[in-house]
Amino acid sequence: KNILLLGGGGRECTLAWKIRQSPLCGDFYIAPGNAGTSEYGTNLPVGVTDFEAIKKICTEKSIDIVMVGPEDPLVAGIYDFFKNDDSLKHIVVVGPSKDGAQLEGSKAFSKKFMERHNIPTAAYREFTKDSFEEGVAYIRQAQPPIVLKADGLAAGKGVVITSDIEEAVDAFKAMVMDAQFGKSSEKVVIEQFLDGIELSVFALCDGDNYVLLPEAKDYKRIGEGDTGLNTGGMGAISPVPFADKTFMDKVIARVVEPTVRGLKAENIVYKGFVFFGLIKVGGEPYVIEYNCRMGDPETEVVIPRLKNDIIDLFLKMAEGKLSEVTIEHDSRAAGAVMMVAGGYPGDYAKGKVMTGFDKVQGSMFFHAGTTTKDGDVVTNGGRVLAITSYGSDIKAALAKSYENAALLQYEDKYYRKDIGWEF
Ligand code: ATP
Repeated sequence: KNILLLGGGGRECTLAWKIRQSPLCGDFYIAPGNAGTSEYGTNLPVGVTDFEAIKKICTEKSIDIVMVGPEDPLVAGIYDFFKNDDSLKHIVVVGPSKDGAQLEGSKAFSKKFMERHNIPTAAYREFTKDSFEEGVAYIRQAQPPIVLKADGLAAGKGVVITSDIEEAVDAFKAMVMDAQFGKSSEKVVIEQFLDGIELSVFALCDGDNYVLLPEAKDYKRIGEGDTGLNTGGMGAISPVPFADKTFMDKVIARVVEPTVRGLKAENIVYKGFVFFGLIKVGGEPYVIEYNCRMGDPETEVVIPRLKNDIIDLFLKMAEGKLSEVTIEHDSRAAGAVMMVAGGYPGDYAKGKVMTGFDKVQGSMFFHAGTTTKDGDVVTNGGRVLAITSYGSDIKAALAKSYENAALLQYEDKYYRKDIGWEF
């Protein structure tokens, strides 16, 4: 099968690594890819939301499967673009329809969906410019901390959590009245704060059936001890020690199955990955958010622990036959450490030459923000590269990743030294 993978981060590098291992993989292209993906296939300089350019690639290269990495093209309707075009509709698209992508694309949509299907989530209200005064009154009487969320995509920056009521009112005003995130903050969800411990669960869904992938936990803050600014993710582990059988049975019965059934009951076409951002509160699962694609850096530990052939999974998904699949997990733990550019998530430099790849032993490295220049691999983003290792347990896996993280060199490199610290 000829494959086109869309995206260019650590998630896509990991997917490229996995896709390349399949005997079913024919010609393989990544758009736009990064310095790491070019080891597994051919990078093409095309943006992930340039649907006409993507169509051209699919036609010229006789693509059979398009795997969509990031959310932007899904929320913009890439699935529908393919299915409404006679020359493209035979191509398998791994990712939901535009309606399905609303689970991530609109917080108000996802909250209402959970309400309709009785899926546990924080109590909430939604407000717009027209209900601004009501929103302010709601904040003033709410129990702090206050959780405010811009309705639409905001590159992970649309959530404010604060115990300072005036700060909450200001943030609310900036979003709905001053259009801080443009259309994305025309609506704002204000919800109850849940105090618990977070994890991510992933399913691949064919519209009727689903399979569960290994679960993971990521580390979002820039600083050790989970302090400082939020980032795209500084590391991840899998499995998650507190996701025991009792808890996972609840996740399946109360969250995963009602979600898959709910999508079907509402005639929402969903053939792709569902990411459940969960929080465990007193032993019970609640949904913090849905994403309509795999997570990054969770993919960097989840996919290495998946033993099944990924292209076979995509084909079974397309045929609606995931019920025939048994997912096999690697029994080893995996731990990923994200190496970033100094200054990230604030301002940072690009173009720093990276060395030491020849010294790395016993770990996988998945490139994120990298590119090649004059024969060198150079940094090209805030999150530069994930180092993932297997181990008999999380501690052993991370020890290996840290050993190798020390060997890779570039100016102003930074990484958290405490990923998985609580375990
Ligand atoms: P992401 O970048 O992960 O996609 P997002 O911008 O879509 O994030 P959410 O995942 O909804 O936003 O929220 C971001 C983070 O804020 C969550 O991972 C969680 O740590 C925290 N959070 C969100 N909602 C709540 C809540 N109701 N109670 C406690 N913490 C919350």
